[in-house]
Amino acid sequence: MVKEKKLLSIIVPCHNEEDSLRLFFSEVTKYTPNLNVNVELIFIDDGSKDNTAGLLSELYAENRETIKAIFFSRNFGKESAILAGLEYSKGDYVVVMDADLQDPPELLPEMLRFIEEESYDIVATRRRSRKGEGAVVSFFSSAFYKLFNKFSDIEIKEGARDYKIMTRQVVNAILSLQENNRFSKGLTEWVGFNVKYLEFDNVQRQHGKTSWGFFKLFKYALDGIVSFSVTPLRVATVMGLIVSLLAFLYLIFVVIKTLTIGDPVAGYPSMIAIILLTAGVQLLFLGIIGEYLGKAFIEMKNRPKYIVKRTLDSSNDSK
Ligand code: UDP
Ligand code: MG
Repeated sequence: MVKEKKLLSIIVPCHNEEDSLRLFFSEVTKYTPNLNVNVELIFIDDGSKDNTAGLLSELYAENRETIKAIFFSRNFGKESAILAGLEYSKGDYVVVMDADLQDPPELLPEMLRFIEEESYDIVATRRRSRKGEGAVVSFFSSAFYKLFNKFSDIEIKEGARDYKIMTRQVVNAILSLQENNRFSKGLTEWVGFNVKYLEFDNVQRQHGKTSWGFFKLFKYALDGIVSFSVTPLRVATVMGLIVSLLAFLYLIFVVIKTLTIGDPVAGYPSMIAIILLTAGVQLLFLGIIGEYLGKAFIEMKNRPKYIVKRTLDSSNDSK
């Protein structure tokens, strides 16, 4: 009996990728025919403002067998786009890829081989170098990985990409995590399983420009940490204790000093300094508590993580 070919779902989140899409498609389809699997390509148009949607419709019309497209009603962010792709995918294996060719498709055969032959559950990728990336962004992202790994119980490899291939079992495990605030690098680590990391050199974006400014990255990093760790809250408790203790000791010192040698000069500067310090520390930790409260608030509302405007999928035509 001939063994039936497995299905590989390739999930591609797209936000303003009109310049990359055709190139991406032709690059990826260079490798997919040799993979010995059937392929479905799922593009998610994450509320693009350019002609991404139009191009996707064209590509779909030309390749109805392999391409599926999901169009969001607005920009919901890459995490939501990945989630939509995972939920829509039917593959035995699922891989997530950026549309800008920064995730080299030539790794696909090797990634698939590790899954099929070496029985890994996840084959992930990381960038060996960050060459071609801004120094500021590099510095902060490296600091982020260090901080994240210190604070949370799971470990993310520095430079890890969302580019990874997973078995159906892993995808189902990830989909069972119903949180709103999705930090998928953390989620994939959290579910466990056997992970293999492949490394590659940073590839520069071919066309278009990145959708991630510094502040968007900063927010992403903060969300990542707050979603996976309560250590910052604990730091608040410890710092609060230390500051209170110091203040108390200082109080005793002041009382004794006043009683014994009096207080000839009013300690105005030191008083201001202490007031400012405590106020600052308090504000900082109020902010941290606010972050978590905000997260809880969003989770509680339990809004859908994305809204689909329409889909293109030839397997739905008959229905
Ligand atoms: N992306 C998305 N929604 C967004 C931002 C980005 O779907 O709000 C997609 C984008 O089209 C690309 C991938 O996520 O396929 C990575 O984005 P980008 O290349 O801008 O990020 P970088 O590679 O600079 O981290
Ligand atoms: Mg990119």
